[in-house]
Amino acid sequence: MNIEVLKHIVSNEPSLIEDIAQKHNLDSSASVGVARQLVAQHGNLAALSQKQRHHYDQCISPLLENVPCDGIYGEGTCTGNGFIDDDTLLGCYLEGDFLCQLCRYDAERISRE
Ligand SMILES: [Zn+2]
Repeated sequence: MNIEVLKHIVSNEPSLIEDIAQKHNLDSSASVGVARQLVAQHGNLAALSQKQRHHYDQCISPLLENVPCDGIYGEGTCTGNGFIDDDTLLGCYLEGDFLCQLCRYDAERISRE
């Protein structure tokens, strides 16, 4: 689990979790609570109850794993595998720009040309 990204979301953008929770008709404050607990326990999923795990699977995991790359020219134009790699993910949240490493490289190259 990308604990750095989770820390960032819990501290700075908990609304990301709340929005997904609301879509799934889950108690959004409980979802954020699960995220907080995970940060405190260094991402130990085994420590979650079944109910907490449900919050994690529905509202938290999608923000951390297999986050889709937007592609430079929009959906479906990613030149990588379509997902943002773990190393790049925190930067994506910080910059609000969801591009994988390959697309970032392409975008830089294009902007230089
Ligand atoms: Zn990409």
